[in-house]
Amino acid sequence: MQKETYFGVDVSPLSYDEILVDIEQRMQADQKSTIIAVNPEKVMAAEQNEQLRELINNSTYGIPDGVGILLASKLKKGTITSRVTGVDMMDRLLEFAAKKGYRVFLYGAKEEVVSQAKAKIEEKYPEIIISGYENGYVQDPKQVVNKINEAKADLLFVAMGSPKQELWIREHMDSVSAKVFQGVGGSFDVFAGHVKRAPAFYRNLGLEWFYRLMKEPKRLKRQLALPKFLLKVMRSK
Ligand code: UDP
Repeated sequence: MQKETYFGVDVSPLSYDEILVDIEQRMQADQKSTIIAVNPEKVMAAEQNEQLRELINNSTYGIPDGVGILLASKLKKGTITSRVTGVDMMDRLLEFAAKKGYRVFLYGAKEEVVSQAKAKIEEKYPEIIISGYENGYVQDPKQVVNKINEAKADLLFVAMGSPKQELWIREHMDSVSAKVFQGVGGSFDVFAGHVKRAPAFYRNLGLEWFYRLMKEPKRLKRQLALPKFLLKVMRSK
């Protein structure tokens, strides 16, 4: 797969549908796939942090989560045509699993959040098999790995925030029999209905960041990564 690279960090240019087709082929070939969300904040951090950079670059799909990467691709005449957000990618994978009969495991978030996310997902996709779940505060990884394997999970979603979830996946993916691994941050909170996403109006205009900033002004510091990143991209032309 041809990837686009921003300051040493690789991003997958594939759309949701292309990733699903690719993942299914990899599952059939018995290959494991990992999905990690990339945004300007992570690119800027990864530039200074080799471990984070390797984590992203060794994943199968570094998805362009966030309008910043999309704009950078436009500035650099790249081929990324739309955002691929972590939460929407997870939703598409759930739909795919429900349709194809693949088994899903949810690991992460607080007990009431993950159990509620499971219930809401089952409501949305009645045929889905969520063969197990565990909250993100169980400390013994062996116990969690056993539980996932006993559930014969094909897809594993890990929601413990970044980079904790990605580090967990990297360390344990070889002993987990699942084929698809995605670190999904606060997505269980979204599925459970605890955190609202921006209305479609903002999302369609690429202004989700603005909506979140209005709701949570303390995000400003994190969000300053976006203009800094774009300036850097422009200067690097
Ligand atoms: N979390 C967890 N275990 C931990 C720390 C965090 O399960 O040890 C969960 C937390 O309950 C929340 C999610 O991880 O559901 C963190 O989401 P956040 O929005 O901070 O992640 P981001 O998307 O910003 O990486």
